[in-house]
Amino acid sequence: MHVVVLGAGVVGVSTAYQLLKDGHSVTILEREAEAAQFTSYANAGLVAPGHAYAWGSPAAPGMMLRSLYRGDQAIRFSPRFSMRQWRWSLAFLGQCTAERAAANTCIKARLCQYSQSMLDEVTGETGVEYDGRSGGLLYFYRSPERYSAASKKADLLREQGLEVRQLSRDEVIETDPGLETARHAVAGGLYTPSDSSGDARIFTRELAKACAGMGADIRYNTTVTGFVRKDGLLHSVETTSGPVAADAFVLCLGVYSPHLAEKLGIDLPIYPVKGYSVTVPAADLDTPPAIGGVDEENLLAYCPMGNRIRLTATAEIAGYSNSHKPSDFRVMLEKARELFGQKLGASGIEYWAGLRPMTPTGLPVVDRSPIDNLFINTGHGHMGWTMANGCARMTADLVAQKSLSHSNEGMRYGG
Ligand SMILES: Cc1cc2nc3c(=O)[nH]c(=O)nc-3n(C[C@H](O)[C@H](O)[C@H](O)COP(=O)(O)OP(=O)(O)OC[C@H]3O[C@@H](n4cnc5c(N)ncnc54)[C@H](O)[C@@H]3O)c2cc1C
Repeated sequence: MHVVVLGAGVVGVSTAYQLLKDGHSVTILEREAEAAQFTSYANAGLVAPGHAYAWGSPAAPGMMLRSLYRGDQAIRFSPRFSMRQWRWSLAFLGQCTAERAAANTCIKARLCQYSQSMLDEVTGETGVEYDGRSGGLLYFYRSPERYSAASKKADLLREQGLEVRQLSRDEVIETDPGLETARHAVAGGLYTPSDSSGDARIFTRELAKACAGMGADIRYNTTVTGFVRKDGLLHSVETTSGPVAADAFVLCLGVYSPHLAEKLGIDLPIYPVKGYSVTVPAADLDTPPAIGGVDEENLLAYCPMGNRIRLTATAEIAGYSNSHKPSDFRVMLEKARELFGQKLGASGIEYWAGLRPMTPTGLPVVDRSPIDNLFINTGHGHMGWTMANGCARMTADLVAQKSLSHSNEGMRYGG
């Protein structure tokens, strides 16, 4: 079968790989000049089943409200004259009960673990290298109260089969001596030994090369603009380089998925949630961390990637702009220097902002669409790097009309 994958982010390229493995002929269409040029470009790099908590939680509405007059909230809401934003926000608030948060977290934790095993399988098969690091991730807390609450909350992840260890301050520093300079900020931490990390952009680009080697036709600088339907099926996609016909199509356009899908009457509950990252030379840190982690009270993620350290923060529900200015990074750099020393960034900083394709539940949509030969694999939110390879396998199973290797419960279209 000839399958066209729309989008060459980490999700699209991972999907293309699984389709090629199943023996399909695959074309990838991407508007940028390279793979992973948009949201998959400079994320935090954490492959983090240990951070699978749903963002829609009883704490979220208060944060959104407070963010209207305070700039220090983990989730920030900037109202826009946008029906899409308001509809999404109301649906998100609907997921903010304790019951919904727990249910979404459990599904996500299982999906993340399955996806991590698929990432390992794909790297084993292809030899793709991506500054990957095993050895776990550390989630540390500054206040004893928050630490103790988090330790209880982690039972939810343990019930899904994940090992989460509770560590005292000394044990946190023993686990990652690179955090010695952050000792003053650590009350205790949770350590997930099986979590890992790596550069999603390098992974995606290397996997795209492996896909090309397997015969994929990857068309960069090609923007999908519309669709042609025939006899109830999707016949072709219209692009800036002409129409492309196929037997089946997979939608992996990240935050732009709803815009294209609505041309087909398909309503996808995805809205961008903006985050910021900086990448700095590891040599500038007093003692660079050996493994990645999160300063939970500031929701500041850090991740060693080769000789660089990536730091990310912030979740802004503020529309489609991914522009940034120096002041957007001031607070995160201050917090990062508190942890890793004042020289951080002294010899250069790469600034970036990206748009997480979030659904209200935090779970992606991985399903058939109402059009029989169009499949959906999008909306991976704040965990698309972690979830990409599992969702790719599930999508390939859907295309092959096989039973799914992992259940898409909670990820169905319209469900
Ligand atoms: C600050 C930040 C930190 C993050 N940290 C982590 C983390 O630590 N761990 C984790 O698991 N996840 C993390 N994420 C989330 C993760 O980066 C995303 O979920 C993931 O990159 C989404 O991948 P995607 O392929 O769906 O989207 P994208 O990477 O955006 O791919 C979609 C592609 O479609 C293309 N496209 C769009 N419209 C068209 C069109 N009309 N025609 C052709 N092509 C088009 C785009 O150019 C793009 O390349 C983070 C995200 C952010 C922003």
